[in-house]
Amino acid sequence: MMRKYSEDEKYMKEAIRQARKAEAIGDVPIGCVIVHEGKIIARGYNRRNREKTVLAHAELQAMKKACKIIGDWRLEDCTMYITLEPCQMCAGAIVQARITRVVIGSMNSKAGCAGSILNLLQMKEFNHQVDLEKGILEEECSQMLSDFFRRLRTRRKKEKELEKELHKLQEEETEKDLQKQPEEELEKEL
Ligand SMILES: [Zn+2]
Repeated sequence: MMRKYSEDEKYMKEAIRQARKAEAIGDVPIGCVIVHEGKIIARGYNRRNREKTVLAHAELQAMKKACKIIGDWRLEDCTMYITLEPCQMCAGAIVQARITRVVIGSMNSKAGCAGSILNLLQMKEFNHQVDLEKGILEEECSQMLSDFFRRLRTRRKKEKELEKELHKLQEEETEKDLQKQPEEELEKEL
């Protein structure tokens, strides 16, 4: 049992490494790896902003690569490690691909579909249910996200302040111009 847990941590570390790549290109840091027979066969990180499409979620990126390696749309006997609970689209794809096991870092109370809003991964009405493991390196995974959003908020605040500053300067200039005008006109008359 202990052995299995540390294996999970090891792979989650790799998913976190992938998330850092997303962060480096200014995307929300979410990373994913897919493991088959004890080996990482695919990696993915969120590129939604970079590629301007929701289809660039980390899980889908990794799944596409894994399908190429396995040579099938089915990803049976695969374990997916994700730093953040999957959305409805990715959870749907995971069930469709019949991924055996999913290991999640931190949960996403606002959009997660592995138990937070819905649990699409384990609905008995579908033909496939996923073995689910949550909370692996949870603190590190959620810290990475909250740090990212905090930095984003700070940057946006700064941008707004700069915008205000610029606006103020422009207004002052316009005012000066307006004040100048009559003088110039007077000069002309002279
Ligand atoms: Zn998704």
